[in-house]
Amino acid sequence: MALVQRLRLSWSALECALLQAFGVQRRLVPALVIEAPVSFPPYESESCDNDQSDSSSFLDSIFWMAAPKKRRTIEVNRCRRRSVQKLEKVKNNIEVCQDCGRLKLKHVLCAFCYQKVVHETALIRAQIQALEGRPHNTPPVENVVLYAGEKATEADEGKRIIERNRKRPAWFTVDS
Ligand code: ZN
Repeated sequence: MALVQRLRLSWSALECALLQAFGVQRRLVPALVIEAPVSFPPYESESCDNDQSDSSSFLDSIFWMAAPKKRRTIEVNRCRRRSVQKLEKVKNNIEVCQDCGRLKLKHVLCAFCYQKVVHETALIRAQIQALEGRPHNTPPVENVVLYAGEKATEADEGKRIIERNRKRPAWFTVDS
């Protein structure tokens, strides 16, 4: 409603401006504009008697869009929308995670366990950054993560050792 009033106000303002500028006495009225077809029929000046063929060729040049002839009922529409083909497929590839017991897809990482890995990795990276005072980029040496109750062996000499003051998670196995 506000849009219509705004259009009327702008149209009256435009009309007043045009009347003042050009001195037009007649009242201006908005006109309807119809778009013509893209391709016009060729002009034939020699044949003036066949008006029927001219009108048919003019109609042939218009591109007709397909339009529904009848309204489809709500029953037909609902049958189409809720058809068996559009139902969600029943998944048979669901299993229980061996670590946390939550349901997960087969051959896919458990989302809950993966979040634990992400969290622990972020903590280890933050500890490395705190130790070395710079962001953890591609390490020049191998990393060894030692949890509570673990000690560095002779094979770990020369490697970057990160000590975590917590129990080793079950999923974080030691490389042999
Ligand atoms: Zn899990």
